[in-house]
Amino acid sequence: MATLFLDLDRFKVINDTLGHNVGDLLLKSVADRLAESVRHSDSVSRSVEKEENYSFARLGGDEFTVLLTNLREVHDAGKVARRIVEAMAKPFSIEGNEIFVTVSVGIAIFPVDGDSVDALLKNADSAMYHAKEEGRNNFQFYSNTLNAAANERLILEGELRHAVDREEFVVFYQPQIDLRTGGIIGAEALLRWQHPQRGLLHPADFLLAAMDTGLIRAIDEWVLRTACRHNQTWQQRGKMPVCISVNVSNSLFHGNTLLSVVAEALSQTGLTPACLELELTESIAMRNVDASIVMLTTLKAMGVLLSIDDFGTGYSSLSYLQRLPINIVKIDQSFIQDILTQARPAPIVRAIIAMAHSLNLLVLAEGVEQEAQRTLLLEQGCDQAQGYLFGRPMPADAFAALLPLAHLHKAG
Ligand code: C2E
Ligand code: MG
Ligand code: MG
Repeated sequence: MATLFLDLDRFKVINDTLGHNVGDLLLKSVADRLAESVRHSDSVSRSVEKEENYSFARLGGDEFTVLLTNLREVHDAGKVARRIVEAMAKPFSIEGNEIFVTVSVGIAIFPVDGDSVDALLKNADSAMYHAKEEGRNNFQFYSNTLNAAANERLILEGELRHAVDREEFVVFYQPQIDLRTGGIIGAEALLRWQHPQRGLLHPADFLLAAMDTGLIRAIDEWVLRTACRHNQTWQQRGKMPVCISVNVSNSLFHGNTLLSVVAEALSQTGLTPACLELELTESIAMRNVDASIVMLTTLKAMGVLLSIDDFGTGYSSLSYLQRLPINIVKIDQSFIQDILTQARPAPIVRAIIAMAHSLNLLVLAEGVEQEAQRTLLLEQGCDQAQGYLFGRPMPADAFAALLPLAHLHKAG
């Protein structure tokens, strides 16, 4: 839970120059925008200092409080605060006056910044003063650590926007092998960010920020085009054709650009559709199942392969799984890690393999690190595997070097 304390910057000046009537109307409009900026479940109230009745506006009172409940992450309070600051930045039009107001917001988190209403309000208020000191028109957390984290996040988001234009992203490839023959059959395309200062970053370092900002869709589209281009180049160099799988985010899958991006990537590179595989997680597929089935059916008709990533970690219904026109199930690496140490997960892996096979799906085991895991998976009839045992994610050229030449492969 978070308490936001808001104060309009320089409200007194507006009130004094344009009159109390305009000031009142402005406060009402501010309240409307505020209400739009927070979720419906969050309560917004005028701060009326100890008066029980909220319906009476107090002249001169330009303070509001917002109570955010059911917060998933502390960071979400910052997101709401930013939304509020941005919402206020647009000019208000009141009785023919175009009025610009900004707002300073202080945030106190329950229970770390106070476990009583009084303590929370006091600390949110003091954070609000900090926001004023920082030049108004911004938000501050009461806690310094949270401020530092919020700033870092803001910087990261700014850098992410530039990263797209500055082409700082790279695609790495992790080999996938056929467990029976031990031969390489393809790779998963994995995103890396070559950050100018911080070095090579992994998706865990920036994927959430990319999702929050909506940049993930553009990034995913770039990965998809890049992977198709790389794959076609390798084939043109005489390498054995392989299938490259690309991760598809929720925003790409449920947006309206996926089909055209796939069609374009295939036609521009001339890549065989069966050399492209799209991975989506159970939760992405299960969100709006009917739309997912239509989308997957269309993709399948284009000749692209489809897989369910991280299988076993989401909440998928088996009856829906049966209706999804997919080709491959990728068993999540957590099950593979436990396969040797615990007695129980092995039956789960066996059950997933049996289930997938009875649905005529191939099974790939993720995160295979040890020889003993490989042996066990092979014994259980698992078809394919991916993991450090066979190769870590690597740059495109390094992966291409692993691929046998097509004519040698056929001869062998
Ligand atoms: P994922 O799709 O399940 O990818 C597998 C992850 O497991 C990769 O992490 C890979 O490096 C790691 N891995 C592979 N073999 C092993 C192993 O033997 N042991 C261990 N401990 N780990 C192994 P990575 O590259 O950090 O990617 C993490 C996640 O980020 C991916 O999980 C995927 O969900 C997401 N991701 C990666 N690239 C993209 C992308 O281009 N677009 C989107 N939307 N998501 C991506
Ligand atoms: Mg994946
Ligand atoms: Mg996975």
